[in-house]
Amino acid sequence: MNKPLNPPANALEAFWMPFTPNRRFKADPRFVERAEGMFYYTPDGRPVLDATSGLWCVNAGHNRPRIVEAIQKQAAELDYATSFNMGHPKAFEFASRLANILPGDLDHVFFCNSGSEAADTALKIALAYHRARGKGGKTRLIGRERGYHGVGFGGISVGGIVANRKYFGGLLGGVDHLPHTHDLARNAFSRGQPEHGADLADNLERIVALHDASTIAAVIVEPLAGSTGVLVPPKGYLERLRAICDRHDILLIFDEVITGFGRLGASFASELFGVQPDLITLAKGLTNAAVPAGAVGASARIYDTLMDGADAPIELFHGYTYSAHPLACAAGLATLDTYRDEGLFERAGQLSPLWEEAAHSLKGARHVIDIRNLGLVAGIELESRPGAVGERGQEIFKAAFDSGLMIRVGGDIVALSPPLIIEETQLDQIFSQLRNLLSTID
Ligand code: PMP
Repeated sequence: MNKPLNPPANALEAFWMPFTPNRRFKADPRFVERAEGMFYYTPDGRPVLDATSGLWCVNAGHNRPRIVEAIQKQAAELDYATSFNMGHPKAFEFASRLANILPGDLDHVFFCNSGSEAADTALKIALAYHRARGKGGKTRLIGRERGYHGVGFGGISVGGIVANRKYFGGLLGGVDHLPHTHDLARNAFSRGQPEHGADLADNLERIVALHDASTIAAVIVEPLAGSTGVLVPPKGYLERLRAICDRHDILLIFDEVITGFGRLGASFASELFGVQPDLITLAKGLTNAAVPAGAVGASARIYDTLMDGADAPIELFHGYTYSAHPLACAAGLATLDTYRDEGLFERAGQLSPLWEEAAHSLKGARHVIDIRNLGLVAGIELESRPGAVGERGQEIFKAAFDSGLMIRVGGDIVALSPPLIIEETQLDQIFSQLRNLLSTID
């Protein structure tokens, strides 16, 4: 049982919880109080195996002493410094270290505080880039159905999740959406990248034909869409998007907030798929989630154009009070050290065949209508109850937590993305526990 919260009796009321049906949660709350490695611990001390790395973010596991110590030391040394016309060494060090591992020629790093800010920053950089090279007519942005790029107005405009959009007015104008790539009829139970759907990228040609390339600035996609239920890109799809963007002088932005930092068994999805974006957005695993942080990686071509272009501003009129916050930089540097010294990206790659096998062992389990996987990510799609989408998902979430397993559920899709330090026995445990739980839920 959960330890009762201390008075006041309405202790749960003040906190307006994000992305949560508050009344429902507060009537039947669940808490964690501590975490270490692969586990959360409830207030009464029960371990909960974290099969989702928090929210796809603690890639090196929870409360890693090296990262904790780096944050503590930094807080005592330099708590805050701006990066507006001023510098502190760790900002430059962190950016250089990051640029070193970013794919291809993404040699410049702009810091922000979250994935949402990273998405909006990347979109703004794309627009400013075209303007700076005298192509100010290129202003249209193209996202994708079921895409998730955070919750800023830019992000929800190019994003494709209906619930996240429909309450918030007209959103950005001049936005189009590619179709999503989810195709249960043709691709159900694919292992790794599905066979069918590369041709969906050709919808970009149709959008270009409709509006003319001279009006289009950028396309933004998640190489693998996480939040909308683990949609793995069909074979050849990303390559095709890249080719069409090249043909029409359109920037390609990869939102790697989830797929970055080893999640797919390579440093970045761009590397795994061999497709080079012009801009990349990062957050989550950037600091192992110990301090909020986000970043945009930009190619030298974009950076140089914005510094020296014919119509370039003398600065990018964009930034945050907390861009390159010292605590974030210290946490980020310690996180990169941890990934490197423990070989965690390689480890994720080595474990991924076992992960795939274990995930697909759920084929035939009750309610399961699809299983998708890549790297250390899996999506288990459950059949929805007629007229009650998401109900079964909620029940499995609660049952899992109560039996010591933290999973992420969106609608009736279970998304799994464990810390990259996961042991083989824990990997098996996740799926055998899920199989049992599914058998107990109607
Ligand atoms: N982009 C992607 C692909 C994401 O998955 C997320 C968060 N799940 C975001 C952006 C937004 O990140 P944040 O919640 O840090 O704003």
